[in-house]
Amino acid sequence: MSILIENVLHEGDRTNIYVEGNKITDIGPKVEADQIIDGSNHAVLPGLVNTHTHAAMTLFRGYADDMLLQEWLRDKIRPLESKFVPEDIYWGTRLACLEMIRSGTTCFNDMYFHLDQQAKAVEESGIRGVLSEGFVDFFQPDLSEELLKQSTDIIRKVQIMGCDRITPALGPHAIYTVTESSLRRFKEISDEEGLLIHFHLSETQEEVENCRKAHGKSPVGYLKDIGFLGSNLIAAHSVWLDESEIAMLADAHVKVSHNPVSNMKLAVGGALPYKEMRQAGINVSLGTDGTASNNNLDMFESMKFAALLQKFSTNDPTVLPAGDVLEMTTAKGAEALGIDAGVVKVGKLADLILVDLRSPAFNPNHDLTSNLVYSANGSCVDTVICDGKVLMRDGHVEGEEEVIERAAGAAQDLVRRGQE
Ligand SMILES: [Zn+2]
Repeated sequence: MSILIENVLHEGDRTNIYVEGNKITDIGPKVEADQIIDGSNHAVLPGLVNTHTHAAMTLFRGYADDMLLQEWLRDKIRPLESKFVPEDIYWGTRLACLEMIRSGTTCFNDMYFHLDQQAKAVEESGIRGVLSEGFVDFFQPDLSEELLKQSTDIIRKVQIMGCDRITPALGPHAIYTVTESSLRRFKEISDEEGLLIHFHLSETQEEVENCRKAHGKSPVGYLKDIGFLGSNLIAAHSVWLDESEIAMLADAHVKVSHNPVSNMKLAVGGALPYKEMRQAGINVSLGTDGTASNNNLDMFESMKFAALLQKFSTNDPTVLPAGDVLEMTTAKGAEALGIDAGVVKVGKLADLILVDLRSPAFNPNHDLTSNLVYSANGSCVDTVICDGKVLMRDGHVEGEEEVIERAAGAAQDLVRRGQE
């Protein structure tokens, strides 16, 4: 199967992009292909990469907002999560994948429950995912062995599926929900099997204070001492860090996922120390976090929030310019997840999106990057290719009506069960 995207705007010039199998195999010549896409009103970009999500939380979209984090979790989210059936995760993840495709995301890094259902939804949606089962043992050592076994068993199940677009990963939740012995074990498994670890780090000041009380050191200091840091670690949030912690993350080649919308909505009280991280050479990519704390999965919106939050919090409009934020959302995201995509180049995976330049958001077009970051939103994407297959064409995704209906039904049913 081959695709030719004809006469499309790519890095300032009109060209043709040829896709064969799941790769970009040529840029420039107009060659015959099984499928021709007219790109004359479009610009091509690499598919966007979202490095921190809890996809099935789409079912909680708009269910409980404007609350304090702990009350929100205790009174609203956890009671419903306790009523989940596997099918809820499947439809919630299908809805998330649909929303991501519609807004130009082709790859995401997820952590939630029922990994096999996440994987089924991702396989059927055609998108690419790094998927992990969230692990929480709440400091009960007798529980952790059993839970760890469940975590690795479900990874085997997903590995057996053999879907190239799915990379299983490990999902220990955070230092305040997972025992030290389990964290050590996760690191061993990660090293032995080359699996990424998806983790929440230093999201709130309270987390840092509690860590200092319990261990006499900062969260990063604690993780370093137990040998948990490494290049396989993707640390979501990483808001409350001091200089020495940034240096430790840089030394260990830890990757950071920045989630500006979630951080602002939950009022975590600080902004990612981006400038310092960039100086230290840390890979910083971008995530949305779950839909309950965002409330969408639109990476265009997150790009703008990321740039504005840095400028606002540092009182310096030169921090995090548009080109850097676009790179965080493409090349840096792909690099963090070990995916050979994130740039439109021959030999890379064919994860591509087309934005419609006829939109008011792109006119006038003095600077496409500026328009993409500050002016556009996800609805400017009308064509999406992932792994060499067209998932959206002219704004339509096959089967989307059913996904929306079934996911909305699953959410209503979940709320009803929660009230029983
Ligand atoms: Zn999260």
